[in-house]
Amino acid sequence: MAPTVISSIDTLESSQMNNPLDNISDLIAQTISKASSELREPIRHIYTNPELAFEESIAHDTICDFVEKQGYAVTRKAYGVETSFEVISGKGGRLISINAEYDALPGIGHACGHHLIATAGISAFLGLSAILKARGILGRVQLLGTPAEESGGGKLSLLKSGAYKGVDVALMSHPAPAGMLADMAGTKSVTALGGIKFLATKSWIIEYFGKSTHASVSPWDGVNAYDAAVAAHVNIGLIRQQIRPAERVHGCMLEGPKAANVIGQYTKLKYMARSDSKQAVEVLEKKVLACFEAAGLATGCEVKITSESGFSDVVNNKALCERYAEIGNAIESQKIEVFCDKDGTGSTDFGNVSHVVPGLHSMFAVDAPASCGCHQLAFTAATGTEDAFQKALFAGELLARLGLDLIEDNEFYHAVKTEWEDSTRPVAT
Ligand SMILES: [Zn+2]
Ligand SMILES: [Zn+2]
Repeated sequence: MAPTVISSIDTLESSQMNNPLDNISDLIAQTISKASSELREPIRHIYTNPELAFEESIAHDTICDFVEKQGYAVTRKAYGVETSFEVISGKGGRLISINAEYDALPGIGHACGHHLIATAGISAFLGLSAILKARGILGRVQLLGTPAEESGGGKLSLLKSGAYKGVDVALMSHPAPAGMLADMAGTKSVTALGGIKFLATKSWIIEYFGKSTHASVSPWDGVNAYDAAVAAHVNIGLIRQQIRPAERVHGCMLEGPKAANVIGQYTKLKYMARSDSKQAVEVLEKKVLACFEAAGLATGCEVKITSESGFSDVVNNKALCERYAEIGNAIESQKIEVFCDKDGTGSTDFGNVSHVVPGLHSMFAVDAPASCGCHQLAFTAATGTEDAFQKALFAGELLARLGLDLIEDNEFYHAVKTEWEDSTRPVAT
């Protein structure tokens, strides 16, 4: 798409006023296009300076500086979260929250492409804000910086401190390798998925305390914490046949012995389990905890298990997914599949948000080598291209147009809300 570049939003406003039958998508697209040349460098800066969970100070400052330069008042370090921020524009009406992630992964940088989630979020915010202002529409848009998705769950802290209070619908868009989306959708030309199922998670830190001795002179005097870690991993392997196909358990050793000739006295592990729902992951948790405890018992080690905050499954909303696909598919180059009732394998802290307000977690395709998946170095490279940047801007444009529909189309909004209320109502037991 090659929208006409215009000199300022003010120029746009007057041109819109002269033309009551204006084209909404043009105003949104032109606003995003105008801002994109200034946004390219800040996003590049975030991409080349990847930061881990709750340490995203460069990303935080870079985005806040950019949005302020666009003329918006930004609340830095919002809701008591050091690397979160909030910008709200518009007045009255419904409040649409656009979530922007920007954290990276240890050792492999932006291998999940969260700098592109930020790009899509900023693009959506600017596009939707411009149309609300230009047309005097009652409605508000919140750009919320949501750090620490990969680890720690920034959205959980934001939920706790009230960042989603008053929000009517939350939206975001995440990149994925084009081949991966094509495999999931079963169609090569797919450009985005309207919604995707995410699993609920639980995670734990497991520590084994043993006793060190010389591994050859007197190994019988030792209590082997390394053996306990190995036994825990083997036990987890043994339960796999008795867990359901969608369920996953995986982990790593965070600390362990450093010498082969010493019986290790301390190991520290982290494990995660995933299942379709919060209730199902709690059932799985009982089996997993028994594996850790049995390993301690068998080796004579003391065990300490610390539970971390888990993520909820994502409550998908068919009405939202379908409207998102409808908006995109009206454009010739787009092929968006509604995917909200198919199986998924990932997890996100947006799941917790979707249990509090209706939400859409869409995925957009980025060109990447065949068989490339998320969390691979090949995807880090794929998310750093100009083409990926342009696709993220466009993903934001679709979110802006969806946000506008949620604000303007009462019937649509109420269908979304009613479906969400039905999906989140506690099941009578
Ligand atoms: Zn990820
Ligand atoms: Zn991600």
